[in-house]
Amino acid sequence: MAEQRKAVALISGGLDSMLAAKVVMEQGVHVEGVNFFTGFCVEGHTHAIREKDRHKPKRNNALWVAEQLGIKLHIIDVIDEYKDVLLNPKHGYGAHLNPCLDCKVFMVRKALAWSFMEENGFDFIVTGEVIGQRPKSQRKETMPIIARESGADDRLLRPLCAKHLPPTLPEREGWVNREELHDFHGRNRKPQFALARRFGFEDWSQPAGGCCFLTNAQYSAKLADLWQSKGSRDYELDDIMLLKVGRHLRPRPHFKLIIGRELGENRFLQGYRHQFTTLQATSHNGPLALLDGAADADDLNLAARILARYGQGRDAKQVDVTVAEPGGEEVQLTVAPLGEVDIDAEWHVGA
Ligand code: SF4
Repeated sequence: MAEQRKAVALISGGLDSMLAAKVVMEQGVHVEGVNFFTGFCVEGHTHAIREKDRHKPKRNNALWVAEQLGIKLHIIDVIDEYKDVLLNPKHGYGAHLNPCLDCKVFMVRKALAWSFMEENGFDFIVTGEVIGQRPKSQRKETMPIIARESGADDRLLRPLCAKHLPPTLPEREGWVNREELHDFHGRNRKPQFALARRFGFEDWSQPAGGCCFLTNAQYSAKLADLWQSKGSRDYELDDIMLLKVGRHLRPRPHFKLIIGRELGENRFLQGYRHQFTTLQATSHNGPLALLDGAADADDLNLAARILARYGQGRDAKQVDVTVAEPGGEEVQLTVAPLGEVDIDAEWHVGA
């Protein structure tokens, strides 16, 4: 009996990676999934926080895909290593701060290193890439770049578009039958939907714009602002998590306000009260704000007036605001809320 071959599939949580893994599994290959956590993943984060998205499933789609496929999923934290990919992309950025081509090279390289570890012993790598689907990273010219620069070479199989590419090692060796692979191409998703139905899948995740926040214009603008304010292109996990939440306003170069837009976000921001100065109205209902930066008395007064603008006291003459320092000291301010016209459009970061 032929030896059962083992493949590791990159699982983003979207439909394509789910189908790619399934196509190979149907050929009798043992498949396990890997999912890389960069810190920028869309995976449920804001849906999990916001009240208004309560009806949306809170599932981790990568885990959900693994469960649908009946495979093991290895979630690997790459937050620190990913910094170099984002900060120094050899192939540059896509439409926003998304270094998609370098990101793919990085993930395949990581999967390769992980899969060839002695205790794992996989034979090849599977991705859900489709030629022509993404303008920057999924083009016919970029497919060999990813294979070559990751070091995977012909051990990298893209089952959804394999027929448009030269045969890979698993095909040449007969570990998979090339005839049963696919020739999907371009942005038309109908072939994927048809294949999903053929496999009996009735549900799948389709994150608009991509699998991570870096493809989002507003998020990228907030990240660029963060780097500019820090004076260096660096970040910690908390920084990039906070960019996913709230309304961000920078009224003066040396400080920014992150103002919760609804109850769920206010609760999430509360978790940061030991790291940031917080502001909250006490005379009226309203959001919580984190103050990121250094603020003097005049800055705090402006911050409190901005905060008051976004609460139920926006039309009141005066609003009481508590300013709490991370150490616990509190200052009470009474301020006149700024009018709508007083909020400079340029203060909004990534709006
Ligand atoms: S969308 Fe994000 S995770 Fe996906 S390839 Fe691009 S940079 Fe990487």
